[in-house]
Amino acid sequence: MVKNLVEVRNLKKYFPVQKGFVETLLARKIDYIKAVDDISFNIRKGEVFGLAGESGSGKTTTGRLILRLTEPTEGKIFFNNTDISSLSPTEMRGFRKRMQIIFQDPYASLNPRMKIGDSIGHSLLIHKICDEDEKRKKVLNIMENVGLTPTNVLYGKYPHQLSGGQRQRAVIARALILQPDLIVADEPIAMADVSVRATLLKLMIDLKHEFNLTYLFITHDLATTKYICDRIAIMYLGKIFETGNIYDVYSNPKHPYTEALLSAVPIPDPKARRKHLIPGGEIPSPINPPPGCRFHPRCPHTMDICSKEEPELIDLGNNHLVACHLK
Ligand code: SF4
Repeated sequence: MVKNLVEVRNLKKYFPVQKGFVETLLARKIDYIKAVDDISFNIRKGEVFGLAGESGSGKTTTGRLILRLTEPTEGKIFFNNTDISSLSPTEMRGFRKRMQIIFQDPYASLNPRMKIGDSIGHSLLIHKICDEDEKRKKVLNIMENVGLTPTNVLYGKYPHQLSGGQRQRAVIARALILQPDLIVADEPIAMADVSVRATLLKLMIDLKHEFNLTYLFITHDLATTKYICDRIAIMYLGKIFETGNIYDVYSNPKHPYTEALLSAVPIPDPKARRKHLIPGGEIPSPINPPPGCRFHPRCPHTMDICSKEEPELIDLGNNHLVACHLK
């Protein structure tokens, strides 16, 4: 039986809304942005678990909560069976090495004044894993692994001297240098040129096998998840609407929102025509989400019950879970 590396239980993150001084004095209550609102899921060892949804769905906040870069409001996060949701910063130190992140924008996440080799190896010194000489050897090795070559030349370059694809490889190398178990990849190829996206995805898959990695792959692009993810969860306004293995969700989506997102995935055939089901209107405010099903103001199948009762996630078999009153 495959073991879980991460277990998320009833996780919530509410951010208080910042107000002006007078507004704060007059306000009777504090408003909260419900970025993540009671979600539960598992990430199995060795799999790529996708979190997908439109901007503002709460997927990035979920990734940050799992890494404890953001403190949860409520709920539990288990990493390898240890509850890390309430560990102190000192207690978290040992876990930090085992979970790393790849940010969307490699340019913003690399220190412009640090040479690439030093950026990649910085955490080795922070965690006192080795000295400067050993660091250089380890960094050159990992640069070779991610195809950041010629290693000796690129080691001494600054981020602005690299191409976008090379910078993304550097960020991947930096995430790998501590030999983590889990990598949270937050839109890892969104900023890359279209021509190098496929290469970067293939690199991530190859590295997963080589280093025995588990990925949480966060994206708004369902076309990408099809090629890299084993399982997927679809998020909307802080909730999970549908989750299951990638084949089931793609071939037989059960939630109207998933259907709508999938209808926007391009088909690699210029003659093929597909009905686009993306609903009109903006995502409602996460400060005051719609009652009942949060999708009801945009759903083409909405019924009376939808604005009154929030649908539960129900298992339709084969761990394919859906939260919709139609099911
Ligand atoms: Fe649409 Fe109702 Fe299902 Fe929500 S619960 S997705 S509003 S049919």
